[in-house]
Amino acid sequence: MSSVARPIDVAWPQELQSSRAFDALAPSYDSLPNPLLALEQRYLERLLPSLHDRDVLDVGCGSGRWLTELARRRPRGLTGLDLSREMLEVARQKKLPGVELLHRSCTGTGMPDGSVDLLLSSFVLSHVGDLPRAVSELTRIARPGCGLFISDIHPEAQRKLGWKRAFHDATGVIEFETHRRSPRQVAALFAGLGWDVTVSIIAEFGPPERAIFEAAARLSRFHEAAGHPAIYLLHLRKRDAARPENSGNRMSLAGARCALGPEESTAASLRICNGAIDRIVANGYAETCASSGLEIDLTGYLLMPGMVNAHDHLEFALFPRLGNPPYANAAAWARDIQKNLASVIARHKAVAKEVRLWWGGIRNLLCGVTTVCHHNPPEPELQRADFPVHAIQNCGWAHSIAFGGDLRSAKAAALAGRPFIVHACEGIDDCARAELGQLDSLGLLDGDLVLIHGLAIDDDGAALLRDRGTSVVLCPSSNDYLFGVVPEVARLERIRDLALGSDSPLTAAGDLLDEIRFAIHNCGIAPPRAYRMATEAPASILRLTGGEGSMRAGAQADLIAVRDTGCTAARTLSTLSAAEIELVLVSGQVRLASSEMMNRLPAALSSGLEPLWCNGSLRWLRAPITQLDEVERVLGAGAVQLGGKPIRRPTAEEIAHAS
Ligand SMILES: [Zn+2]
Repeated sequence: MSSVARPIDVAWPQELQSSRAFDALAPSYDSLPNPLLALEQRYLERLLPSLHDRDVLDVGCGSGRWLTELARRRPRGLTGLDLSREMLEVARQKKLPGVELLHRSCTGTGMPDGSVDLLLSSFVLSHVGDLPRAVSELTRIARPGCGLFISDIHPEAQRKLGWKRAFHDATGVIEFETHRRSPRQVAALFAGLGWDVTVSIIAEFGPPERAIFEAAARLSRFHEAAGHPAIYLLHLRKRDAARPENSGNRMSLAGARCALGPEESTAASLRICNGAIDRIVANGYAETCASSGLEIDLTGYLLMPGMVNAHDHLEFALFPRLGNPPYANAAAWARDIQKNLASVIARHKAVAKEVRLWWGGIRNLLCGVTTVCHHNPPEPELQRADFPVHAIQNCGWAHSIAFGGDLRSAKAAALAGRPFIVHACEGIDDCARAELGQLDSLGLLDGDLVLIHGLAIDDDGAALLRDRGTSVVLCPSSNDYLFGVVPEVARLERIRDLALGSDSPLTAAGDLLDEIRFAIHNCGIAPPRAYRMATEAPASILRLTGGEGSMRAGAQADLIAVRDTGCTAARTLSTLSAAEIELVLVSGQVRLASSEMMNRLPAALSSGLEPLWCNGSLRWLRAPITQLDEVERVLGAGAVQLGGKPIRRPTAEEIAHAS
């Protein structure tokens, strides 16, 4: 995006006044601990879409706080404009690659008509006196379909808590000129010029901000603010005549608390259209989402993104744990079970592989996983639209150094730009330790590589992985079973990304929820980190582009609901088991419901769900449960275990009793 010669409008006096205040603030702005900015950052970064192929403008970029984050996401073009020369100078000193900085006003940007795909306005509009003029200017430069993210202090916080936007310098208190407007008033101005509200949420301070208040000896202010909205966030979309809003196949989820991240949640309704989230609207905001179509009342529930299981072997879901541990490395385990437990393996393999793959999908669905990375050759069965969860199998892949054949050929055969996934360093002996060097000598240790396990990585290895941008997927309960050792997470702290995988029941403790609890209790992983390792991190490592592991407008509607205990999503997840997953949507379709949830589902959404008795709970699944008869014929009636947990078809009495 280039700046063009265009007459720059004269800024309004209020803006100039603010710009002078910001000039004074600029030298210290980045170093001042600011709970409002911290709160905004952790919500807004989760709402932003992919910036690929977009021209982005940060309106009121200040010291370049958001430009830094936006540049990291590699948009096509990135421009920041601000009225404060001093703030722009601070931004300039950050030397962000490809970023253009302009000394302009949001009421006169000087940008060409229809030149921007995404606009950001962070804590800016309340400083603008003539908002209609700014709205008109931003509408002019926005392309059809342009997204606009707005954040600001919630007027209620200013009114009820008496917050002022001010700071101290040597001359005393400098107060900013501000204009209190509700998010609804702001959105209404944009709506009048052809923008739709896609996201409207309010956010309150949480644990991360508490630490900032505490460090500033202002903890009482934190407690005063508890229960009050602190900021609001809006995501608007400029209507596109060429792509009219799709009105077909809609449903809404009302009344839940929605988890946008590990410690980010808001009471809101979601609208789902054609399998994707197309509205997130705070309760009480306005008309809410319940316009047309089907609705599920989720009052009393916490709605979270479906989890992403970074590692599984789906065809082994019906197998028990196998082995006589401890072992020194994974190859020794594999050779041992093939030699000494051949009859058990043969008996389970007598169940048709397609059937076993489906139960691999069901094992994931039951614990709230909506996307799983299948580590084995691609299977057509997994591509079916009715497979219980999304199964990723377009990554480059090799089993391991011991059993993977020619790894360089496997890497060459992988699709360009896709991750290349290998079991490595799975053990505690020299063999396992040597694998990092072997991968390096094969030229494979790079940013595409994803190591599964990495148990034998030492400090030097961790530093090497960090330098090469390699990611690691941990399956600690499998390591504990085979070797009596779990990964040292502190050692792996600085590598690019860490995710959790359930691995298969051949070695794992159970499902991904069991793995998360195991990782928290045995590896010292904090709940917010564990949450990210089962949602955002695997989505990033696997380069998923559908919004998997997140809840934002445009993301595919892969969602799970559990009873709301008032805790953060991270804290909730840290104690969660499959028996508490009451609703799972995959691309907007109900794939799992508890008996309680069945009572809340419109008939059109519950139709076709089949009952399964799983480890003491009744679940209704959109899956071919009748296949269980075939499995029982092979493994024995009442003897079938899924991920080590007993499953069977429930009796009519059990179904009647549960509902
Ligand atoms: Zn594995």
